[in-house]
Amino acid sequence: MAVVADTLATPATVVSPFQMPTKTFYSKLFLAAIVFTIIAMFAKNHLPKRTLTIVPNSDPNANYFLLDPEHPNARWIDRDRFHFHCKFSESESNMPCNLIYMLSVDSVKGTDLTNYDRLHLDVTYAGRAKNMRIAIRHHDPRFSRPSDSNSTKFNVINLRTSDLAKPLEIKLDEFTVADWWLAQYDLPRDQTHPDLSNAITFALDFEGDLRNTEHDVQINKIEFTGEWISNENWYLGILLCWMLFGTIYNVSRIIHLQRIEQQNRSKISELVLHNSKLRNETDKFRKLSTVDALTNTFNRHGIEQIIESLEIRLNATSIILLDIDHFKRINDRRGHDAGDRVLQRISELIARTTRSTDKLGRWGGEEFILICPNTSVGMATALAEKLRIVIFDSVFEPENPIAVTASFGVAAVSPNEPFSDAFKRADEALYSAKSLGRNCVVVAEQDSPHIA
Ligand code: GH3
Ligand code: MG
Ligand code: MG
Repeated sequence: MAVVADTLATPATVVSPFQMPTKTFYSKLFLAAIVFTIIAMFAKNHLPKRTLTIVPNSDPNANYFLLDPEHPNARWIDRDRFHFHCKFSESESNMPCNLIYMLSVDSVKGTDLTNYDRLHLDVTYAGRAKNMRIAIRHHDPRFSRPSDSNSTKFNVINLRTSDLAKPLEIKLDEFTVADWWLAQYDLPRDQTHPDLSNAITFALDFEGDLRNTEHDVQINKIEFTGEWISNENWYLGILLCWMLFGTIYNVSRIIHLQRIEQQNRSKISELVLHNSKLRNETDKFRKLSTVDALTNTFNRHGIEQIIESLEIRLNATSIILLDIDHFKRINDRRGHDAGDRVLQRISELIARTTRSTDKLGRWGGEEFILICPNTSVGMATALAEKLRIVIFDSVFEPENPIAVTASFGVAAVSPNEPFSDAFKRADEALYSAKSLGRNCVVVAEQDSPHIA
């Protein structure tokens, strides 16, 4: 029973090294991700900006000047504070009042302003000019020549001096390329757009007829600003975070499901093994309950089960009862073990001589029963006679032979006859065989047995 108890024990639970976070954890994470997304969307406008400050200027190497410094009519009032003054007489019509700030150290490699999108300008102006012009020169090796300073692209915007009363915020995409400059350089269409990717100079001057005018210019601020991260990249980043989040979630789920599948598979194989062990045990116990351990033939319980089967009853069936003659004497003279060996040998002889459909059982101590389905009583009688001779002729205990014989009672099981009746007749026939001197076969008839 210990074996059965062991095999019935519950299979050990497999503990997974990978623990899937709970659904509540993921719900919280999901909510947190939504909150962070909303914050990120609103925080975008409050992030620090990328700046390039030209004025006020703290760079001692900054290079800026008035054009033309040789001309006495344009002069600095306070160069450090970008305060200058221009005065033109009646005759000076084409004189410039022009501040130029160098955005590059050489005339070819300039400053990339494409990362900025705004120009903040604060200028205090006193004078009669109607427009102030902001120009940013861009060097492009395709058409700019170091020998010709005018060949740098002239990106420009015109401002009304009346608008200078308060600080201005100018979008850099408001700049255009001056018509006169385009007319002068006759470029292909794809080179005519404004370009600030390689800015060489930043200039400020006045347009129109400047004769007999005075201009006082105080520049308080020139500053470019831009986003460190563009809106597109910012929202793309948020999208990528979501995709990453989704991917991690799904990958962890897939891994978790694979682990569960693996666990289930190993549990199933454990159960299959467990089941086959149980089946083996069941077979073993079923055999033990129907098979005689000494002779390996059916025991009385096994024979009774065979008798109960309908198959036997429906067809012509005969039974043969066999009892070893003077077996007690064999036991007495040769010992119980020798008696056992005789029982085993006789079982082997009968099994070898009969058909596989014939069922041999040990009915009592040295008494056997042979159930022969589909066998007429005549055939059964012949079989019994054959067995009798086989036993008679066989050598038992070859080292010290014993003469062994057996007596037989044969009976037919009539259709619908209770088996016990047929058995009783066979038993009577066997008794007759004993009475007639043993080592013979007697066939039972309906009323009285007769010798075969
Ligand atoms: P008969 O010819 O009239 O059948 O005489 P018998 O001696 O064979 O019959 P009896 O019924 O007097 O004795 C049967 C003996 O069989 C008695 C018993 O000790 C012996 N026996 C029963 N089972 C076994 C067994 O499993 N092994 C051995 N060795 N002997 C057994
Ligand atoms: Mg006997
Ligand atoms: Mg007996």
